[in-house]
Amino acid sequence: MTYSEQINLVENYLKNELNFKVEFFANDLPEDISGRTIYNEELIKINEPTAEEALFTLLHEAGHAYSYRKYFTKLGLSQPDDVSKRETYAYLYGYGIAKMLKLNITKEMWINSEKQYD
Ligand SMILES: [Zn+2]
Repeated sequence: MTYSEQINLVENYLKNELNFKVEFFANDLPEDISGRTIYNEELIKINEPTAEEALFTLLHEAGHAYSYRKYFTKLGLSQPDDVSKRETYAYLYGYGIAKMLKLNITKEMWINSEKQYD
């Protein structure tokens, strides 16, 4: 599977299961931010130069959308104020989504992919 094909799978999952849209090449993000989940607009913005980077960033943001939709909202909880906790959920669920969709992403690739996210 190419990176683009894998991106399509994640995008479809977001659309169909989590009701989040994705905007690629979102050049209104701050320069040092490659992805962001905007919960009240049900929108994920990605700004990455390559499909490979876009895939990893999209999965991270999908982890945020998943924890928001399937966990906090469903249980009637608000998201933790602690950013590092929210990032931990995104890290874990992002990888879980990659596994669930059977993407070509190994644990090593996932561990090495962590960078500047929001
Ligand atoms: Zn994040």
